[in-house]
Amino acid sequence: MIVILFGPPGAGKGTQAKRLEQHYGLKQLSTGDMLRQTAAEGGEFGREVKNIIDSGQLVSDDIIIRMIDARMDHPDCLKGVILDGFPRTVAQAEALDKMLTRKQQKVASVLLMEVDEQELYHRIETRAREAQGAARQDDTPETLKKRIKTYLDQTKPILPFYQSRDVLHRINGMAPVDDVTAAIMAVIDAPVNSIEINRQKRF
Ligand code: AMP
Repeated sequence: MIVILFGPPGAGKGTQAKRLEQHYGLKQLSTGDMLRQTAAEGGEFGREVKNIIDSGQLVSDDIIIRMIDARMDHPDCLKGVILDGFPRTVAQAEALDKMLTRKQQKVASVLLMEVDEQELYHRIETRAREAQGAARQDDTPETLKKRIKTYLDQTKPILPFYQSRDVLHRINGMAPVDDVTAAIMAVIDAPVNSIEINRQKRF
């Protein structure tokens, strides 16, 4: 089963992905975590990746697509994956589609976690404060502003792609974290019913 967690930076994708991973035995694939690992390894490429992350922009589609393609062939992905932070561009969504066709799989659901912009700033500030010395360098209000712009310009335009395939579901990401988990699980557990509901209430 392939599940995509979709939403702006700070929407709670990572938190929910970890919960789903435990509950369903799926593997969380966070391209952000993979890239932070590459950045931490250093070297010229690592520094290049770090600069991109810190600027709030996106790493090139080519690199990301190759990274995910290779990762999904690991045995720990056999039962299925939760994609957290991927796809982030229309080109990535199209490449994922081709990749999955080749692997004889398809996207079961795309969960769009919707959160007000003001709340995103609030959450990033809290996350940075709680992480203290280990805070992510891109968790600053200035970088968040750029990351939100990148999301609106390059990532949100993916949505019609999944909407046309009847796999897109909107989740209220402002709700308490347990309620968000419950809403996501309701979609995953009843995909056929949810598709029917989506057909009736086109957005
Ligand atoms: P995240 O942890 O998902 O917020 O990702 C942190 C940063 O990693 C992003 O702001 C991007 O610079 C980079 N990144 C993560 N996923 C992708 C992706 N799918 N495509 C391009 N860049 C990405």
